[in-house]
Amino acid sequence: MLRSFRFGEADRVLHVYTADRGRVGAVAKGIRRTKSRFGARLEPLSHVELMLHHGSGELQTVTGVSLISSHHESREDPYRLAVGLVGAEAMLRLYTEQEANERAFTALTRFLDRLDTIPSRAPARPSLDPLALSFQLKLLWLSGYLPHLDSCVECGVAEGLVGYLPSAGGAVCRNCGPGKVAFSPEGLRGISTLLTTPLADAHGAGLTDRGARDALAVVTASYEFSGGFRLRTLSA
Ligand SMILES: [Zn+2]
Repeated sequence: MLRSFRFGEADRVLHVYTADRGRVGAVAKGIRRTKSRFGARLEPLSHVELMLHHGSGELQTVTGVSLISSHHESREDPYRLAVGLVGAEAMLRLYTEQEANERAFTALTRFLDRLDTIPSRAPARPSLDPLALSFQLKLLWLSGYLPHLDSCVECGVAEGLVGYLPSAGGAVCRNCGPGKVAFSPEGLRGISTLLTTPLADAHGAGLTDRGARDALAVVTASYEFSGGFRLRTLSA
């Protein structure tokens, strides 16, 4: 469950990401009544099994819910919740189609499972959290939105990369730069480590503050230049 909002007197509209059909919109009728049979199972970040009725409209109707994992440990801690909502918004913006994507679904479930146990780093910014950054870099990579950062897109050298130049579609070196988004060698190492480390180990990957800030700059620029959007949760 990625997001929900109030709909009419007692209903909610849910945006969910499913294993077999990708992004789905559904209405949970009567959920806001105290005696709703759906109870508190349909909360953002929860992992559920849904039974859906396909009506004539765009939204399906929820007819049954069983809980796989409530992820309440993530929702009850403000820092973890903020990290979770960054991940949920990234899914919502990058995966808008009703089309199954097994790797994206698996990444989402791993992200949510790990989120329950990450250390609360408040007052650090949730947008700089290694798990949040790792998840977004992996989603960007799966979507084909992640720029080429291994060598200079202009001249091909692999050393001395200083920034990301969206108009050229990748990293640039000192001679071809400066690029629109500057990054340090530490940032480049951080991005590559986060991409190659399993989500569960993102917190132990040794990401430095500078590395995290550079990774966030590349993530933000990738959304902006490849997808044409910004994540609201990242500016919080
Ligand atoms: Zn170059």
